[in-house]
Amino acid sequence: MIQRIIFFIACFILVFTDPAKAGWQMFETKYLKIRYQTEADLKAFDKEIKFKADGSSLFFSKKSVGTDKYEKLAAKLDVLFEKVMLILDMQIPITVKINVYSTKNELQDAYFKIYKKKGGKRAWYIFQYNTIYVTVKDLTAGMLAHECAHAIVDKFFDVRPPRATAEILARYVDAHLNKEAEAY
Ligand SMILES: [Zn+2]
Repeated sequence: MIQRIIFFIACFILVFTDPAKAGWQMFETKYLKIRYQTEADLKAFDKEIKFKADGSSLFFSKKSVGTDKYEKLAAKLDVLFEKVMLILDMQIPITVKINVYSTKNELQDAYFKIYKKKGGKRAWYIFQYNTIYVTVKDLTAGMLAHECAHAIVDKFFDVRPPRATAEILARYVDAHLNKEAEAY
C-alpha cells in the first residue's frame, strides 16, 4: 500500500514539475501558430521582436492593424514573415509553428528530447515537425526571421535544398533585416 502511495506521489511530482507538461497556450496569426506557457512569456516574446509593422504588408492595409496588443503583435509578426518571403522572393501559402520556451534550460531540454544529445543552439527549425524552437531569454527579430526563412526555403522547393544552401539563404535574410533594424 505504502509503495503504491509513494508511486502516486512520484507520478504527481513528475507531472507537475516537468515544464514540457505544463499547459501550453496558443496564439495564432496568419502565418504562425505560437505555443507559449505564460502571458509573461508572450509579452517577453513581443518585446524581443523589435520590428516595426508600419503598413508595409502585402496583404493587409495599415488600417486593419488593430490597436489591441494581440492584434498588434500578430500584425508585427505577419509583416515580418511577409518581409522574409519578399527578401527570398518565395511567396507561398504557409503556416509554421513556434515553440516559445521560458528559459534557455527549457529550450536545451527540448533539444535533448528531440536529438538525444546536448546542443548549444540558440534557435532552430525542424522540417518534420514544421516547428521553430526559441526562448524569450535569447531572441531577436533577426533570429526569428532566420528560422522563418528556413521554414519557407524548405517548403518552397519540391526537393529540399542542401543544408548549406538553405543556410546561406537564411543568413541572407537576417543580414538584410539587421541592416534595417539599425535604421529602426
Ligand atoms: Zn540557419
